[in-house]
This record gives sequence, C-alpha cells and structure tokens, in this order.
Amino acid sequence: MYNICVQLILNNNSKSTDQLYTYGVPAELEEKVQAGKRVTVNFGRNRHIIDGLIVSVSSSWDIPDNKIKSIIDVIDDMPVVSLEMIKLISWIRERYVCKYSDAVKLMIPSMIKYEHSILISAKEELFAEISLSEKEQSLFEIIKNGSIELEKLKKIYAGKDIYALLDSLKDKNIIDMTSSEQQSGKRSYEKLLSLREYKTIDEYDINKTPSQIKIINYLKQNKKVNIKKIVNDLDVSQAVINNLLKKEILTQDLVLYEEEEETKKEEALMLNEEQTYACEDILNSKNNVFLLHGVTGSGKTEVYMNVIEHYRKQNKQSIVLVPEISLTVQTIKRFKKRFGNKIAVFHSKLGKKEKFIQWNKVYNKEVDVIIGARSAIFAPVKDLGVIIIDEEHEDSYVSSTTPKYDTIEVAIRMSVILNAKVVLGSATPSLNTYSMVLKNQVELLELNQRAKNSEMPDVEIIDMSKELDKGNNTIISEKLYESIRLSLGKKEQVILFLNKRGYSGFVSCKKCGYVAKCDHCDVSMTYHIKGNVLKCHYCGRTRIMTYTCPKCGSDKIEQFSAGTQQVENLVKKLFPKANTARMDVDSMSGKSSYENIYNDFKDGKIDILIGTQMLAKGFDFPEVTTVGVLSADALLNLPFYNSSEKTFQLITQVSGRAGRGNKKGKVFIQTYEPENYIINAAKNNDYEMFMKEELRLRKEFAFPPFINIINICVISKNEKLAVDTANEKYNELQIKVKDMVKERMVLLYRPIPHSIYKVNDEYRINLFLKVSRRSLQYVKDIMRTVYLDKDIENIKISININTDTV
Ligand code: ADP
Ligand code: ZN
Ligand code: ZN
Repeated sequence: MYNICVQLILNNNSKSTDQLYTYGVPAELEEKVQAGKRVTVNFGRNRHIIDGLIVSVSSSWDIPDNKIKSIIDVIDDMPVVSLEMIKLISWIRERYVCKYSDAVKLMIPSMIKYEHSILISAKEELFAEISLSEKEQSLFEIIKNGSIELEKLKKIYAGKDIYALLDSLKDKNIIDMTSSEQQSGKRSYEKLLSLREYKTIDEYDINKTPSQIKIINYLKQNKKVNIKKIVNDLDVSQAVINNLLKKEILTQDLVLYEEEEETKKEEALMLNEEQTYACEDILNSKNNVFLLHGVTGSGKTEVYMNVIEHYRKQNKQSIVLVPEISLTVQTIKRFKKRFGNKIAVFHSKLGKKEKFIQWNKVYNKEVDVIIGARSAIFAPVKDLGVIIIDEEHEDSYVSSTTPKYDTIEVAIRMSVILNAKVVLGSATPSLNTYSMVLKNQVELLELNQRAKNSEMPDVEIIDMSKELDKGNNTIISEKLYESIRLSLGKKEQVILFLNKRGYSGFVSCKKCGYVAKCDHCDVSMTYHIKGNVLKCHYCGRTRIMTYTCPKCGSDKIEQFSAGTQQVENLVKKLFPKANTARMDVDSMSGKSSYENIYNDFKDGKIDILIGTQMLAKGFDFPEVTTVGVLSADALLNLPFYNSSEKTFQLITQVSGRAGRGNKKGKVFIQTYEPENYIINAAKNNDYEMFMKEELRLRKEFAFPPFINIINICVISKNEKLAVDTANEKYNELQIKVKDMVKERMVLLYRPIPHSIYKVNDEYRINLFLKVSRRSLQYVKDIMRTVYLDKDIENIKISININTDTV
C-alpha cells in the first residue's frame, strides 16, 4: 500500500507516547518526506492532529500495512533538524532519562511555520552559460523578476515538483533561499511595498492616475521599497498608495529589519607565547576537547577569537557559550568588533519571533559566530568548527528544566558526532572537568600570566569569632569597616558579597566555628523546626538540635541567617553619606535593571554595591578597591556535596574584582573557620591544593566524579500526593534494585523532603541514589519504567544525574 514509511517522534506531552511511531507516506508526499522535517498526523482514538519529527525514512517495515496510518502533510520544505542532531536527540533521551519530545524541544524553536519566511531570489551574476531544463527555466522566469516568498511562489507556479526544481536551481548557484525577516541589525518593522504580480501587471485593466502610474513604474524598477521612501522620492500621498493596496495591485510586507550598526572592526592582537601555543594546539592536536585554564585577564578571550577566526576562514561556524549574566552588551560588542555583524545572539530574554530570526540566520549560514547562553548549543549549525564554553565551571550550564542536561557533556558529545573542537575556559575549572584532564580525556592548556600586567589584590582572611570578643555583633568586621571608610574617603568604590541564599539553614558556633555536619556525607545538616532536628540533605539521617557547642561548649550555637536586605540596612546605618545599592535576584526585575545598576556603578553614582554571585562576573571596574566576602561560611555550608568547590570558585572570582586598575585592591574574606583549606586555597590562588584535597574527600565520601549521584524529585502542589507518590515509587524502585544494593553497586536512600521543601506552592520530595559507573545504564532503564512510563496526574518528576548543585 505504501512505498515508503517514516519513523516519527510525536510532539505529544503524554508520557505513554515516548517511542518512535511508524506512519505511511502517500504517493504524492513521497518526494517531500525527509529525515529532519516535520509532518502532521492523526493520533490516538480521538484522531487528534499533532505534529511529529521524521527521524528516518524507510522502504521496509515489519508492521502490516493495514495497521499503518498515513501522514497528513509535510510541514517543512527543508529539514529543521539535521541528521547529526537527530542522533543527539536519542543520546540526550538516554543520557538524561527524558522523553523524546523533551529532547526535540531543545532543537526546534517554537512552532513557527518555517516556509512562510523563505525568500527566494535570483543571484546577480550572469546566468547565460548555465543550461536549464524547460521546467527550471519557467520557474526561474518568475524568480528572476525579484525576490519572492516561497508561499507566493507556490501559488504562481502550480507544479508539484517545485521543491526539486528549487533544489536544483540552488545547486546550480543561480538562486538564493533566505529567511525573509532576515534582511538585515536594530530591530524595527519596515513596511515594504511591491507589485503584486510582477509579470501580469500591465494586463490589469484599470484607470490609472498619473501618480499611480508613477508608483507602478517605480516599483517595476525597484521591486521592494520602503513606503516612506516612495512618498519622499515620488512626492505622492499615502492615500494613493492605500488605494493601490486596496485594488490589490500592490502588496505590503512587514519586514523586521536591523540597521547595520557601525562597529569599527578591530584587528587581532599579537598573541603572547602561551596564547600562541594554546591556539596552535587547539587547531592541530589530535584531541578534540581542551581546558584553557587561566586567571581572568590572562587573555583567554583572545585565544577564543583566534580559533574562531581560523574556522571562519574555512567557512565553518563557531558557537561561543557564556553564562547568561555575562551575556552583556560589552561581551557582544567585543565579538562584533572582531567579526563584524556576522554574529547571531541567543539569550533567554529573546521573544519567540526574535529567537526564530536568530535561528534562521544560523540555519542559512548567514553568520559565522553564534553567541549565547547554554541553549545556543542547539543552534542549527551547518558546519561546526568549535564550541567554546567560557567560565565553564558556572552552574548555569546545567539546565534547570527537563531535560537537565549538562552543556559540557552535550558539547563533548557533539564534538564526536560533528567532528568539532571544544574549548572549555575558566580560572577555576570545575572538578568534573579537571578530573577528565587527569584521565587524559581533556587536554590541558594553561595561561599563567595576566595579559596586561595588573597586580593581584591582597587577600585577608578575617576570623569573625574574634569580633564577638571585641563587642562587634554585626556582619561587618572592624577591618572591613576601616577599609570601606578609607576607600570612600578617597572616592573609590566598594563591593560586598553575600551568598545567593542568605538563609541556608545550617547551624554553627559563633565562638569556635563548629558546623553540624553529617558524619556519613560530610555535608552540613539543615535545621528542621518540625521535630527540632538537624537533617542531612542526601541520606536523610537526623540528629537532635543542640544549643551547646559540642566542640567548645559555648552557647553561641545558632542558625545562620543574613540577607542582602539586612546588610543594606546595616551599611546605610554605618555609612549614611555613601550611595548604596543592592543587586540580587529579589531586587532585580529583568535585564534592564541589572544594566541600570551596572551603568550607575560604572559612572560612579554608586559607592557601595551589595550583592550576590551576580556581581562576581564581568564587573571590571578600576575604582573598586575594597571587596568584602561577608560570610564565606554561608556558601561553604550549603547542604550540597559540591559547596566547597563553589566556595573556592566564588572567592577566587570575587577577589578578581578588586584592583582592576592601577590602584591596589584589598579583599576581606570573613569566616568563622579561618583555617578552612578551601578558603586558604582561594586566598593563595592555589588551584592544585584545592583540587587535590577536594578530590580526596569526594572519593572518601563517594561523590562525583567517582560515582554517579542521581536525584529524583517528586513535585506536587498537593503535599500528601507528593509524599505518597514518592514513597510508592521508592518501594517499587527498591524491589527492582535490591540485588544491586546487595552487591554494593547501588546505594538507595529513602525519600526525604527537599532542603527547600516548598517552592512556588509546590512540595518537593527528594530521593538520592549513588550508582557505580558500570551499573548506570541498567539503573537508568529501571528509573524510566518506574518514573516515566505512566503519567500521574498532578505530579511532576524531575531527574538530575550528577547535577544536584548549589
Ligand atoms: P580573559 O578572557 O582571560 O579574561 P581577555 O582575553 O579578556 O582575558 O584579556 C584581558 C585583557 O588583556 C583585554 O583587555 C585584552 O585586550 C588584553 N590582551 C589579551 N591578550 C593580549 C595580547 N596578546 N596583547 C595585548 N593585550 C592583550
Ligand atoms: Zn564552639
Ligand atoms: Zn548524610
């Protein structure tokens, strides 16, 4: 009955559809089907019309023909997903235990019909020598009169072989196919006028006024013209134009255009020896994945740009990923200065339409460089040279929504599928990446000097327990206070940091720095009012809360809590004449307010800036001479296995904020644990020491990268339902992994409330598993059957593999 069939991933939210479906292709659509295009089909008993993505086309199948339904139509003229990305979809589904449709959503911008925006135009060279078939010639006759949208072309040229003909004209290099919104920089809409039917216009039997004739003749020569330009050039009124529009002689397109922004191109700098070596090695080594380790200012970005330039010359595209927060105007400008406007930018604030425009620029290979936050890794590149991940240690490279993919893992996978290079850059590489270096899976390249010789600041650790003795009960030590006073006196600036979760629930002694930790997980325990107990985030073990310090016997043991708001109030009281501003997630609404504070600080309108991690990146101000980390403990004692790593990274980054100009900076790290090795390693900029000690502890307490830690979170607005479901699923899971637990390949903990139990009115119950590398695939398959195969109403399941993070 069918000559060919297609295998589809259906765009359907129901979990029960998570498999590939086979549909038949009617004869008239055979020519159009191709892997990577979308089709519409009937699905289910109700015969809903839904769309699906073709993953393969085949001429043999093992389902009886009468059981196979037919596809309804093919949506796309050209594949929206490449064969390589189809492979990546399957990999993501397996790797992160998600559904096919979750993985597909990463690749395709929301459902805008692709073909509406295809503009076909003739190239300007001479075509005389190229021989065309009769059919090609007749199609080309329509196109050569001016650009035309595919939709319109299909109406004029009725033959159903239009796609094949267009392909062949494109192969012969005499037409271009581009997205129409895509003519061009600054966003605004332009109204473009053109004649409706180029060939037949003179056949219209109407009484034309002189003004109308003027317009028609003008448009015959100029094809598509901005309305304002016509009114100006011909001195005609808008009313005449409206009249012609009404008579359907003219058509009007709303075109989104960008004004070519004048950016002066900058030449590449002469690279220093280390930079040169790094570039050459990236390009010539047989390895595909590199870690570029160098402090801020050591010239990593220059290396990136050189590598990109190399691939650009080979006509290959490059992807540059930066954390969302450093995706600022400055970053983009720097790349524009080097690569002109051949850049597409993706960030989370883009609307659907803008995102689609950027997507098309990449798809049509109109850009050489793609810059964006993590999701830009899925841009539809044609020929990939390199993926660069700057500040690779940042949390924002792990997706916060399903599938919870790790961008670095995806990039490494892509380097295999697409034979591209990956460069991970950081001053404080993640332990995970560094452990890949130690296993020879990633090649290490180091930049040891700052490109411009600015001095590193002085870093001082302040023992906060001594402050109590001095009668200072505030969160600002005497020394920090003095330094702020001096900086303000010299009209210099101050940055004060607090961890992003001011309140984190850990319990510590203000006298000796003792912190209540789980003996089995080496993670701080969290105070729970219910039952007055301390609880471990991972294994769920509990201990009764004590009010006497088990180490020094003092009664200064209490829950830590300080928010940026409180700090702001204190600072205003201490320095009433200074201009103070606060920057955290609560005080920020949208990107503009971030940019406002950024600009005010840059212009010297703000003296003291108080904020969270947000401030650690990109704040490169020469007038900042005092930086205070108000509570290193608040970060160190977050109940996550990687909180030490995050503390090291943050303190190192923060310290880099001081003394960026000619003035020497001072950094104060306040803590109740002045001997802590993490804090000391960060003070001394000693990555080696930090990394060795941290890896030792991770091994001892069985955490990544030595073992896989899986977190399954059951989420519901209905608390009882969340708890019951989590328990039921746990019982099911326990039976299925029993043997593996016996063999000590799997450690399964009981479900416990998430340390932040209620978020957005939803209750979250966590369950952790530790799984040996060899058993991972097996356990994932079990998880899929237990958690994903059946939908449960009002329940969301979130699965994190090695990505439970601060
Ligand atoms: P990173 O990305 O490691 O923070 P950048 O590439 O931004 O470092 O370089 C820091 C500063 O040093 C920039 O102002 C840059 O222009 C300058 N720079 C980098 N490489 C060189 C070089 N080879 N010669 C002169 N200046 C350089
Ligand atoms: Zn104590
Ligand atoms: Zn524990």
